[in-house]
Amino acid sequence: MKAAYIKEEHEILRESLRKFLEKEAYPYFNEWEQDGLIPRSFWKKMGDLGYLCPWLGEEYGGFGADFGYSVVINEELEKVGTGLIGIGLHNDIVVPYIEQYGTAEQKKRWLPKCASGEIITAIAMTEPGAGSDLAGIKTSALRDGKDYIVNGEKTFITNGIQADLVLVVCKTDPKADPPHKGVSLLAVEKDTPGFTKGKKLNKIGLHSQDTAELIFEDARVPADNLIGKEGEGFYYLMKNLQQERLIVAIGGIAASERMLEITTQYVKERKAFGKSIASFQNTQFKLAELETEVEIGRTFLDRVVDSHIKGEDVVKEVSMAKWWVTDLTRKVAAECMHLHGGYGYMEEYEIARRYRDAPVSAIYAGSNEIMKQIIAKKMGLQ
Ligand SMILES: Cc1cc2nc3c(=O)[nH]c(=O)nc-3n(C[C@H](O)[C@H](O)[C@H](O)COP(=O)(O)OP(=O)(O)OC[C@H]3O[C@@H](n4cnc5c(N)ncnc54)[C@H](O)[C@@H]3O)c2cc1C
Repeated sequence: MKAAYIKEEHEILRESLRKFLEKEAYPYFNEWEQDGLIPRSFWKKMGDLGYLCPWLGEEYGGFGADFGYSVVINEELEKVGTGLIGIGLHNDIVVPYIEQYGTAEQKKRWLPKCASGEIITAIAMTEPGAGSDLAGIKTSALRDGKDYIVNGEKTFITNGIQADLVLVVCKTDPKADPPHKGVSLLAVEKDTPGFTKGKKLNKIGLHSQDTAELIFEDARVPADNLIGKEGEGFYYLMKNLQQERLIVAIGGIAASERMLEITTQYVKERKAFGKSIASFQNTQFKLAELETEVEIGRTFLDRVVDSHIKGEDVVKEVSMAKWWVTDLTRKVAAECMHLHGGYGYMEEYEIARRYRDAPVSAIYAGSNEIMKQIIAKKMGLQ
């Protein structure tokens, strides 16, 4: 079933992007997984062809694309591998903060380069001592004349190593009560004195996606780099995290569809006891059940995306889609790997990589427990 928001123009983009990825990404993806990095040259090629932030206005290098284009781009990148998630994060999670809350000067300075691939962005919320409890962050940004002096440490930051511009979630008023009222967003450029990138983190999956620690030691950041208003950062995050969670759910459903596709193919080819393992009722029922659940997830997700495009309040539904779809992704990964038998455990099989990559979708962008907490709150269960 095709989603209502997918029109002919979206399919045209899908077709051209797919061709581009077949030439420029699929053949190199395993190499990138080993290198632990997506090369900047690939980002640049994406930018040259208009696949970075196409939703930006023409004055900034986009073509005013609607969110349907973002869905298509994220799906096609996910089909290559979840390790490309950093591109979706740049396109649909980080750059929107600058576009929505930035000053005219900030937009002019950064947005065209975000669209061309010259600037890679990241968002730094999580700290060693605070992940789910976002208001509990300790990184401070205290005003000193025309600058902020930033101190603190961030961890698990996607695109951290390659980022040219990092939106740092910090406390401009560490004594604010309640604490979330002291949170602000500050854009920190890579060459800022006092800002260093820590080690590239060694993850069990998403090998090609760079994830890093970021350290701020009396980093002097111009006050002009404040995004939006002081003390409003938490509200911006609560608003924009909805799209971040949608992006993760879209990746989850695309990954699930891909895992079902490769497993269906595999069970038709693999023989045991003189017949194809697809002929066993257990295989058929398992795959039939997963196919059904993925279709249900896809249908609900498409409805939520549609409402998001229409500008409706979808906080509850996004939380539902994020936890339900990513839980399903984990289940599909485990079942599909199992149906591959011992080969599923071998690195050269795509399902092995997808099995390693799947669980993180239930952790980042707000863990699935936090999603359930939001739903319960929306239900009036305090
Ligand atoms: C590969 C990867 C990429 C990431 N990219 C980024 C990024 O780009 N930027 C960024 O800022 N962060 C990023 N993160 C961090 C991610 O968002 C956090 O890991 C996540 O929010 C969970 O926080 P935590 O790790 O501190 O876990 P914790 O908050 O310590 O949670 C640990 C466990 O306790 C559970 N838990 C916590 N609170 C509650 C509660 N109230 N009720 C019930 N259960 C609870 C959680 O669900 C989890 O299972 C990334 C993480 C990973 C692994």
